[in-house]
Parts: sequence; C-alpha cells; structure tokens
Amino acid sequence: MQADVPTMLLMIIACSVIMAGALAVVGWGQRRDGMGCWAAGLLLHSVAYVLLSLRGRIPDLLSIVVANGLIAGAFAALLAAVHQFQSRPWPLWRMALPVAIVVLAFPFLLDQYAARVALGSTVYTVQIGLLLWALGSPGHIAPGRGAVLLMAGLALQALVLLVRVGAALWGAEQPSGLLQSGTVQSLTFLTSFVTVLTASLGFVFMSKDRLDDGNRRMAAIDPLTGAANRRSIILALDRDVARAVRMRESLALMMVDIDHFKRVNDEYGHLAGDHVLCHVVDVLRDRVRTQDMVGRYGGEEFLVLLPDTGLKGAAELARQLCHSVEQSPCIWEGKPLFVTVSIGVFGARMEPGDSWDMLIDAADRAMYRAKQNGRNRVEAVADLRRLASRPSLRDNPDTFPSSML
Ligand code: GH3
Ligand code: MG
Ligand code: MG
Repeated sequence: MQADVPTMLLMIIACSVIMAGALAVVGWGQRRDGMGCWAAGLLLHSVAYVLLSLRGRIPDLLSIVVANGLIAGAFAALLAAVHQFQSRPWPLWRMALPVAIVVLAFPFLLDQYAARVALGSTVYTVQIGLLLWALGSPGHIAPGRGAVLLMAGLALQALVLLVRVGAALWGAEQPSGLLQSGTVQSLTFLTSFVTVLTASLGFVFMSKDRLDDGNRRMAAIDPLTGAANRRSIILALDRDVARAVRMRESLALMMVDIDHFKRVNDEYGHLAGDHVLCHVVDVLRDRVRTQDMVGRYGGEEFLVLLPDTGLKGAAELARQLCHSVEQSPCIWEGKPLFVTVSIGVFGARMEPGDSWDMLIDAADRAMYRAKQNGRNRVEAVADLRRLASRPSLRDNPDTFPSSML
C-alpha cells in the first residue's frame, strides 16, 4: 500500500485546521474544559505539517527542526488540554521536556533521516503514553464512550509510531526522505489523519459525556443531602411496585420525619438545620441495605424504599434507624446536636391495582400516628386505602405534571 505523501500531508493539514476551528467554536467561552488547549494543539500540528510539506523548498531548520518541535509542542498542548479538562495543574516538565529534546537533538541529525525518524517517533510515542496515562489515571477517569474513542485513537497512533521506529532502525524499507512514498510512510500519515479525527471527536464527546453525567445527576439527586430526590425516589417506587405486583412479592416503604425540626432552625439557624438534614440522611444510608433507597420527599421528610421486604423486617429496621438517629449526635460548630425521628412503615405483599401513591399514603398515615403517639417512635400499617390511584409513571415520566413529582 502506497499513497502520495504530499497529498496525505495536505489532508492532515486540512483536517487539523478544520477540527481546531470546530473545537474552538464548541469550546468558546468555556475556559476550563480544555477545548481551547486542544484546538491550539491542532493548530500547532497543522503548522508543523505545512512546514513538513515544504521540505526542500524552505531551509531545513524550519522544515525539520521547527516542524518536529511543533509536533512535540502539539502533543504537549493536548496533554495540557487533558489536565485542564480534569482540573489538574499543567504538568510543565512533561510538556516541555519532549519539545526540548526534539529541538536540541534534531539540528545534529539533519543528514540522518532514519535517526531522526527513530528519535522523533520515540518521543511522540512517549508523549502519547503520557496522554493515555493522564486520561486513565485513577480518580480522573472520564467515563463514557468519548474517552474510549479518544484513547483508541491515541493508542493506534502510538502503535504505528512504534512500527515506524522499528522500520527506521531495522526495517527493509529505508526511505531516504520525508516526501518519498513507502508502506510505513503511508501507514504513518494515514494514521495521523485518522487520529486527528478520532481523538478530537473523542475529546468533544468526553466533554459532552461529562455534561450529560452532571445533568443526569442533577435531575436525580437532592443537591443538599445527596439522597435521591423526590422525582427519582417516586420513579423507583413506581417501578418496584410494578415489579412486586408481577412477582407477587412484598414491598416496604418508610416515611421518616424529623421531630420538631423547626426548633432546630429557630434555635441554631437554617445552616444548622441543613447540616442536620445531611446528618440524618447519612445515618439512614449507613444502616440500610445496598438494595434499599433513601430519598428526600419534602423539607425534612424522607422515604426509604425497601424492595422484597415484609412489614416485620421493615418495622424492625425502622426501630434501629430511630435508635441510631437518637444516639448519634450531629456535630454543629463543635457541639453535639441531638434530634429524633418519627417513622411510619408500610409493608405488605403487592396485589394487582396497587400503586405508588397508595404506599406513600399508607406510610404517611403511619408516620402521623407516630407523631400523635409521642414522636421518636415507629408505627406500622399493612393495609392500603384503595384511593383512585395515580397513573403509573414508568412509561413516560416526563409527561406527568411536576406537581405529582
Ligand atoms: P414535627 O415534629 O411535627 O414534624 O415538627 P417539625 O417542626 O419538624 O415540622 P414542621 O412542618 O412544623 O417544620 C418543618 C420545618 O422544616 C419548616 C421548614 O422551615 C424546615 N425546612 C424545610 N426544608 C428545609 C431545608 O431544606 N433546610 C432547612 N434548614 N429547613 C428546612
Ligand atoms: Mg414534616
Ligand atoms: Mg418534622
């Protein structure tokens, strides 16, 4: 396989410039997502390839030393982009050293094409390794297919560069100049073209994946306590009721209400109240099983959803939760602050016609009975009032009026 090298260089230049422009437009005004750095890297890459394609027509210093220095600079800019995306400081040494090696060593290799190819390709492979390392480093893994696409593009380029090193040092094919066609030469430039495309698209998708992830979290999580919000706990309840009806299983639901919470706000302030809400959620989450779900239903009211659980087990767990909250003080401004909760528990085998709102109503009734009977206690019910039930939310939750959720 051989292709015309000047044509391939032109393709790489065009692709780098177009992707740089696209990323600059996409990332405009968003300073901290690394998009600007990535676009700068692509621009350096395109200038480098312009200088490479003018080999023989401009001084070697420009077409060899500066061009290869710019390629190393382009990889350094991509590394800066990844670090900026991950909100980490730029790794200045890891960015500067490869550029310095290329710029300092290449003037001594102007007459040695194979040595230049071997050194340059090795340096770029190490730079790609640093990029992959940064992308995969623990705690900074950007989830999603964007990161996979980006890493795959880079890995492909590194692989081909290694082949190029091998070919330059030991291979049968020994092209004497950059613009000369050859199998490895064609493979290298074709891969550069593909990598510019895939890695840049991967970077954009990685950014989009993170935004989507953040939006999904915001739509599902109560921002103060980190518990499931009202919408997601009701959706989970609706789904679990349907499943329990189908499987003829038991399902339990708790309504947990903090006792005299208004007094906490009045005596210590709303920030202390917020702190207590988070503390109670932490205690609840610590004690429930992994398959259970804690959600914030309203101000100081929480739902605990217990799949495949009968009334007896749920009531026992509720008593433990009540005791745990009472016994574990919330530390506010260095002082212990004690609160208690009243818990209403519903638990029963689900029957056809049962729906999520009936369970909330039952747990709520039990909770009010706990309040009436003195607070800091658990009351349980096993019967559902057959209200005119609300329709299921499973099919299309977004069509339901927000007042329901
Ligand atoms: P009871 O024992 O009968 O449940 O009394 P209570 O004081 O806990 O209940 P009440 O309904 O009278 O007061 C609830 C208070 O919860 C009133 C409201 O200001 C407060 N609240 C609701 N949401 C928040 C919140 O996000 N942060 C804070 N700090 N307070 C909140
Ligand atoms: Mg309340
Ligand atoms: Mg209360």
